[in-house]
Amino acid sequence: MKPNHDFTSKLKQAGIRVTPQRMAIYSLLMDYKNHPTAFMIYEQIRENFPSISLMTVYNTLNMLADRGLINVLGHAGDDSVHYDADIEPHVNLACISCHNIVDINSKYVNQMTNEINSTSGYQLFGARVLFYGNCPACQNQSRSH
Ligand SMILES: [Zn+2]
Repeated sequence: MKPNHDFTSKLKQAGIRVTPQRMAIYSLLMDYKNHPTAFMIYEQIRENFPSISLMTVYNTLNMLADRGLINVLGHAGDDSVHYDADIEPHVNLACISCHNIVDINSKYVNQMTNEINSTSGYQLFGARVLFYGNCPACQNQSRSH
């Protein structure tokens, strides 16, 4: 993650009223590198905000996604939506067996971004690219059975 993220000003810029809960959810997602589901965030956030509801977490994540601050990655074979606070173009890899989602670097991502930037006429806000399959650990496990 990039240092010195100013969560408050990012939320304000996006027209979102800043509350301690929203700040906490957003910064938690920024820190998490494992592309959590709403429930995973809920379980973490409850440690600091015991009265928060899962619905509040969902609503906050949806609002952040609507304003383009985070990406909704869809499910990883587990029927749960995963979220990513990294909206810079990068590639996600989802394992449909253990439902982990990881980042992977590809030298082509920037190339592709530049190309789309210059040819599409779009003002781009971010990107999400998701590949899915079985991760190395899960492949080894199924081989040993
Ligand atoms: Zn796996």
